[in-house]
Amino acid sequence: MAKVLVIGGAGYIGSHVVKALMKGGHEVCVYDNLSTGQEVNLFKQNRFIKADILDYEALVKAMQGQDAVIHLAAKKAVGESMENPMKYSTNNITGSLNILNAMVEAGTKYMVFSSSAAVYGMPKVEVIDESVPTEPINYYGFTKLEIEKFMQWYDRLKGIKFVALRYFNAVGYDEDGEIRGREVNPQNLLPIIMEVYEGKRDKLKIFGNDYPTRDGTCIRDYIHVSDLASAHVLALEKLMSGMASQSLNLGTEKGTSVKEMVEAVEKVKGCKIPVEYAPRRAGDPAALIASAKKARELLGWKPEFTDICRIVKTQA
Ligand code: UDP
Repeated sequence: MAKVLVIGGAGYIGSHVVKALMKGGHEVCVYDNLSTGQEVNLFKQNRFIKADILDYEALVKAMQGQDAVIHLAAKKAVGESMENPMKYSTNNITGSLNILNAMVEAGTKYMVFSSSAAVYGMPKVEVIDESVPTEPINYYGFTKLEIEKFMQWYDRLKGIKFVALRYFNAVGYDEDGEIRGREVNPQNLLPIIMEVYEGKRDKLKIFGNDYPTRDGTCIRDYIHVSDLASAHVLALEKLMSGMASQSLNLGTEKGTSVKEMVEAVEKVKGCKIPVEYAPRRAGDPAALIASAKKARELLGWKPEFTDICRIVKTQA
């Protein structure tokens, strides 16, 4: 059993991580400023500290007596990061440095960090393992990569052991329905399709149908949020039993095209989703699929949600 401070634990991925930690018998304290995290996502069993990662004193105080930190607090809108890089420098980079510094001050030794496949940018290969060069093409991805580099230095200089989990496309919600918060103003494919289904939008704009893929639309690796969550718990447990610091991809190793995702929703919901073809979106690679071999081997992790229709069923 570990005492874990989950920073960003009221958010979409964080709340699923908290549930998985509790299931694993760990003691959780959630730290969140509720800027995008939601109170409804909090579990009553946990301590909750409403504070910001820019508040260094609050971080040091929260860190007292904790064995480990899971850090999921970040701004994550790619488009916004290109227009307002300052917001991302402050929240993601300065905020993460505050966390690392507070860990040193409080003597907390372990950190699981939510990184992203965005660190790879536009890779030349379709199937991406951790040896693929990291060349982010947006500022959001740059911040995630820089934080990974800071963690490497804090490991060398201060012995903080970390796992950076590079998520591919996170989708779905807790299958038991225990996590009730829904992202406000979602920016990603599956929640947008669901908004079309619910009538909140007229149609889905498919960005490009002339890609060199099986049906002309982009292919991504959609990984269920509960599978991401279980990887955090395993990463933490392995770190605490002596595993060296690592960056690990998390994906299903299976690609789904935009059209296939639309078809999956149509099948699950028994409806027709109106679509319109629009020009390609800048910076979208044709296909991004994870190799998660390293996570499978080092963590003994395996995604449970491999059927896209099962994933879609948990989305509503
Ligand atoms: N996409 C789309 N229409 C939308 C939103 C997304 O066609 O309204 C496509 C997008 O081009 C990409 C895939 O869906 O190929 C996943 O996009 P998302 O923004 O969810 O994640 P990303 O892969 O960009 O991180």
